[in-house]
Amino acid sequence: MRTAIGVDLGGSHVTAAVIGEDGKIFRQHEVDLDDRSFKNVVGVLIETIEQALKDPEAQDVAGIGIGSPGNIEARSGAVLYSPNFGWTDVPLGETLRSHFDHPLFVGNDARCATLGEYTFGTGKGTTNFVLLTLGTGIGGGIVAGGELVLGNRFGAGEIGHHQIRPTDGFICSCGKTGCFEAQASGTGLIRHAFAVAPSFPRSKLLDVDRDKLGSKKIRKAAQAGDLHALAAWRGFTGDLALGLANIVAFVNPELIALGGGVSTAADFMLDAVRGRVDELTTMVPRGTTRIAVAQLGNDAGQVGAATMAFRGGLTTGRA
Ligand SMILES: [Zn+2]
Repeated sequence: MRTAIGVDLGGSHVTAAVIGEDGKIFRQHEVDLDDRSFKNVVGVLIETIEQALKDPEAQDVAGIGIGSPGNIEARSGAVLYSPNFGWTDVPLGETLRSHFDHPLFVGNDARCATLGEYTFGTGKGTTNFVLLTLGTGIGGGIVAGGELVLGNRFGAGEIGHHQIRPTDGFICSCGKTGCFEAQASGTGLIRHAFAVAPSFPRSKLLDVDRDKLGSKKIRKAAQAGDLHALAAWRGFTGDLALGLANIVAFVNPELIALGGGVSTAADFMLDAVRGRVDELTTMVPRGTTRIAVAQLGNDAGQVGAATMAFRGGLTTGRA
C-alpha cells in the first residue's frame, strides 16, 4: 500500500506518522523539541522523519508532508513568518528537500489539520467546511467549493485573529484587543474565570498556581455546577458563539467542526453555542450551518500533512 509521512511540528515536540491513502495511521514517532532555533528544528525534523521512513509500512512512500506553524509560501515551503518560533523567511522546505529524495511539502499546521479533518474526519462528504481548533490559541481553516482557501499570500483562515471585542476584550498574543482567540480559546476560558472572579469572593476555583490552572479544570467545575465556573463558561461560550456567527456570515459552510481540548465536552459546549449562533445569524438562512465536534483530534494535523503529500500540495491547484 502506498503511504505518506505526515509530520506535525508542534511547539514542544515533532510527531511523524506513516499514513495510508485511506487516512489510516500505521505508526507515530515523537521527538521532543526543546530549542526552537531553525537549525535545531531542522535536525529534529530530519531525525523524526528518518525514524518513520524505517517503518515496514514505509516501503512505498509517495511523499512527505509537514505542518508547521506560521505563514508559509506553499510552493517553496518557506516559513515567511512564525511568531511562535521567532522565524522570519526561513527556507524550511528547501533545506529539508536537500536531505530527502521523496517529494516534500510544507503547509501551515492549522490548514493541514483542516485538510485532514475535511478529507477523513467530520468534514468528509461536505464541500464547504470550517475547522476551528480551540487550544492555547485558535487555529482554523476554510474549505470552500471543495478547496482549501489559502488566500492571496497564504494568510486565509486566520480566524483566531478577527476581533470580536475590540473595546472590552482581553489582549491577544498578536497585540490586538479582543481577538476571537483571546476570548474563545482554552486560554480565553481561563481569562474569563479571572475576569468574573471579583463577583465570587468565596470561590476556590482559582486557588491554584496560575501555571497549573487549565481550561479543563474550569470546564469540569462548570459541568459540576460551580457558579464561578459557570459564569466564566457563559462568557466564554458567548464569545465563541459571536465568532461562529461571524464565520457563518462570511462563508455559510455546511459544517463548522470544533476541535482541541475544550471541545472534548461536546454536548455541554454545543448546547451552549448553537442557540446563540442562531440568534446572531440574520442574513444567512438559519440552521444551514451545522456545528459539531471534530473527529480526528490531535491526529488531524499529521493526517492532513500526509494528505497534502499525496495530493502534491494543500490544494488540487498544487498550491
Ligand atoms: Zn490576535
